[in-house]
Amino acid sequence: MGMNSKELDKLIEKQIRDKEREKFLEWRRKLDEERGHREKEEQKEKFWMKCPKCGHSLEEIHLKMIRVDRCTNNDCHGIYLDKGELEMLLDMHLDEQTNSQLFLSLLGMKKRSGK
Ligand SMILES: [Zn+2]
Repeated sequence: MGMNSKELDKLIEKQIRDKEREKFLEWRRKLDEERGHREKEEQKEKFWMKCPKCGHSLEEIHLKMIRVDRCTNNDCHGIYLDKGELEMLLDMHLDEQTNSQLFLSLLGMKKRSGK
């Protein structure tokens, strides 16, 4: 991959103009809020943060404005986007190279959550 998530964050940030950035931060805040409400309700349920395909736990992967849940099972590595995350990604209009770097990072990062 050659690029860590911090470098990628910088690259993404550079491509999003200031006024657009405001829009995304607001979007990010809204998504977090909605997610927070949902988490409270869903935490009690046994399938919360479990991969729907294989049942392993999911880890959260964060890049500046994008967050995905990824299965920790190396044979599965299913990737799950919350409602709105994909739309946000598409609406950022990143150039092709940044986009592919972003997806490679999401697919390849070895980071484990402490949970
Ligand atoms: Zn899985």
